[in-house]
This record gives sequence, structure tokens and C-alpha cells, in this order.
Amino acid sequence: MSWETVIGLEIHVRLKTEHKLFCSDRAVFGSEPNTSICPVCMGLPGALPVLNPEAVNLALQTALAFGCTIHFESVWARKSYFYPDLPKGYQITQFEHPLATKGTLMFSGSEGDMSVSIRRVHMEEDAGKLLHDRVPRASAIDLNRAGTALVEIVTEPDLRMPADVRLFLGELKQTLEYVGASDCNMEEGDLRVDANISVRRSGSLRLGNKTEIKNVNSFSGVERALSLEISRQIATLDSGDTVGQQTLLWDDHREELREMRLKEESHDYRYFPEPDLSPLKVTEEQVVAAIESLPELPRERCSRFKDIYELKDYDAEVLTQSAASADYFEELVGIEIDPKVAAKWVTGPLQALMNERREDARTVPVRPAKIGALIGLIERGIVSESAAKSVLVILAQEGGNPSDIIEEQGLIQERDIGQLTSWVTEVLAKHSEEVARYRGGESRILGYLVGQVMNDSGGAADPRLARDLLIKQMSNE
Ligand code: ADP
Ligand code: MG
Repeated sequence: MSWETVIGLEIHVRLKTEHKLFCSDRAVFGSEPNTSICPVCMGLPGALPVLNPEAVNLALQTALAFGCTIHFESVWARKSYFYPDLPKGYQITQFEHPLATKGTLMFSGSEGDMSVSIRRVHMEEDAGKLLHDRVPRASAIDLNRAGTALVEIVTEPDLRMPADVRLFLGELKQTLEYVGASDCNMEEGDLRVDANISVRRSGSLRLGNKTEIKNVNSFSGVERALSLEISRQIATLDSGDTVGQQTLLWDDHREELREMRLKEESHDYRYFPEPDLSPLKVTEEQVVAAIESLPELPRERCSRFKDIYELKDYDAEVLTQSAASADYFEELVGIEIDPKVAAKWVTGPLQALMNERREDARTVPVRPAKIGALIGLIERGIVSESAAKSVLVILAQEGGNPSDIIEEQGLIQERDIGQLTSWVTEVLAKHSEEVARYRGGESRILGYLVGQVMNDSGGAADPRLARDLLIKQMSNE
């Protein structure tokens, strides 16, 4: 008999708001420890929390992006536990009455279009951080993160395969970035995933005992940790034992799971309504405004790109990976660049440039108008495509205009037959072996020879003319 895996996720997302959730300290990453703290987030007696409205808006937009039902009144709750990074001794979160419930997220998974139900989206504050590498033989505490604003997104146990978990998380991250709810910077801990997993006999409807995997800091880590845990649970059940409910910690370096603690039950946390905050009320106008400010979401944008610009699936997916590159592409189309040409430039040379400079389509210094002008010059035969790629690099480094750069760098495409003929003759003389192979019927060699002419001319030769001349000379001699 075979086993079926059941997976549900709890995802914590840091909201992109300047201040913490209940005080006016700045929510910053990477600054000196304990420089962005105050009596409220340190939990000093008598300090009172005041809600940050911007965080509520971002949480609303997040929930609406999943089509959740918004509750006009939700309740803050205290979740009590002791840990050194939690100075108050409790976390302010939402428990019985969350901000939003019952949504879905569609994604492309192993079985094509798949969907996962979102059980709830609630708001809560983050804890501080223990630093194990700052002080010899001791741990230090940095409370800069304490009190920063999070949403927790809880899914139904709808996922079945670790690979789909990764694909689902990719879609979720992309959606949050589109909405502008979070930067989703994994290295900075903007998005943290806890994965709950159980196995059961295929066909059974009852859920098996689950374990919860924490401390995974990449999507591929989640996938690997889950695969390992599936094998362990199946081996346990096959040997006649039962799976114990527990929390496991993923060790990414050792690729192993460690027992952390027996799973606590919610009554262990002694949840009760937060006495220092009135219930969170959102108005209908607030919800309508949040709906109206939602951007077109990744999947819609991707299918629109395929439909109206007639792009290949792959190009549409790459372009809509981030809202910034999709915007960049559409700006190019807006200045009359052919969509297929625009797609080729954004996914090719521009992407390479952005990777190299560690920039995205919003920050890259070469803006669409400049690339548009450059593409225009290629189309008019003034510059070759390969030379244009070096113009792009210069544009990024030094700014300026494509046509000036082409002139200054001597990159104007050579279409003079005399000059081209001499490059072609030289290349043919240097590559007699390839010429023989071409004549022997290996026509693919032609591309290589065109490349040699382009090289010798420093990118200046018009490749189409060079190709024609090569063919002509090789069939003459
Ligand atoms: P707990 O009370 O233990 O935190 P919840 O019912 O709140 O459990 O569910 C937490 C997460 O675990 C949700 O994402 C849910 O989909 C998932 N989950 C619940 N039961 C199971 C199970 N048996 N197997 C896999 N995932 C589960
Ligand atoms: Mg839970």
C-alpha cells in the first residue's frame, strides 16, 4: 500500500512599513544592535502600544490578493511564552478572531494549474534576535526586530509534494512583491516558512500525526527538509511505530532535522485578548480602497502578456517574474518597440546587465527610453546587435546617448563592401580548415565564420552582409 503526503504551511512575512507595529521605532535591518528600540517594544512596565495604520493597510492588501474574506473587526491577543528574545514575555498576535480568512492562491505546479486554500491571514509582531557570534562563549540579544510588523499566512493542508511547496512559495513571494506588502528578502528573514507534514495511506481521509519543520531559510531548503521528513515518517509507520507530534529544526549545512521540542498545544500559550489594545476595526471604505489599489497580480499579468503581446510562455513568465521588469517591458512597448524585440532585450542583455550590477529593473540606470533608442539604431542598420550590447554596458557605466557612444567608440556598423570584403578575405585565409568543412556540406560552420568576422571587426561589421560575402567567396573559389 502506498503513502500520501499532506503538507500545510505557516508563513511569516515582514511587512514593508517604515515603523514597527505598535511604536514609532524604525523597522530597520542590519543596523547596530539595540539602536531601534523603545519602552514599548522592550516591554517596559506602563508602556502602551499604538497601532501603525500603514501595517494594517499592507496586511489588508495581502489578504485581498488571496481573495480572503476580511473581518471588519478582529481581536489582538497575547500569546505568552518565555524566550530571551521576547522581553515582554508575550507576543501580540491575533488568535480566535483574525483579520482575514478563507482565501486561495493559484500557482503552476506539477499538475498544471493548482490551488491552495488559505485558512487565515493575521497580523502580529516579531520577536528580537539572538546573536550567537558576537560575544565569545555567550549569546547576545538584539531587539531591533522586536515589535516589527508581520502577517502570518496559514494554508490548509492542501499540498502533497515538496516540489509543489517550492512552486507555491514562489508564487506567494511573487504575489507579495507585486502587492508591495514585503520585500521578501530571504537573507534578511523577510519571509519565513514553517512546514507541517504528515503521511497517511493513499485514499484515507483522516489526517495523520504531523510534525512541524522550522528554521528553513530558503525555498529549496523547505523542499529538501520535507523530502527527508517524508522518508522518516514513512519508515516509522512501516516499522509499526507512530509518528510523534513534534517540532523539528532544519540544519541546512548538515542537511538534517533535529528534534527541538514536543509540539506545544495552543492552550500552552494561554492566549487571551490584549487588554491594552481595542479590537482592530477596518471600515468598508478602507477595504474598497485596498481593493482598488491592488495591482494586476502575477498570473493575470503573465497571461495578458501571452495574449496581447503574443509572447512565448517562457518569455512571459520571465518578464512577469517581478513587477519591475514587467513594467520595464511595457514601457518599451509603449514607445513603439516590437513586443518580441522588447522581450528579447529585457530578458537577455538587460537581465545580464542587472545580474552583473546586482540591480533590478527599477534601479538599473539604463531606462527604457535609452534602450528604445538603441534598438531603433539597430533597426536602422547603424549599429550591429553585438556592438549594441557593448553600448548598453557603457550606457550603464557612464550614461550618455546611444548614438553619441556609437560614434565615439567607432561602433557604427560597417556596411562598406570594400572594408567588409577585406575582413572576410582575412578570416577565410586564417580558417582554411573550416572553409573545407563548409564546402564539404557542414553548413553550421558559417555561423562560426560570421562570428570571426564580427570579432576581427570589433563588432562593427554588418553581420548579414558579412554572411552574404562569406557565402559568395566560399562558393567562388
Ligand atoms: P496546530 O494547532 O498544531 O498549529 P493547525 O491546525 O493550526 O495546527 O495547523 C497549522 C498548520 O498545519 C496549517 O497550515 C495546517 O494546514 C497544517 N496541518 C494541520 N494538520 C496537518 C496534518 N495532519 N498534516 C499536515 N499539515 C497539517
Ligand atoms: Mg499553528
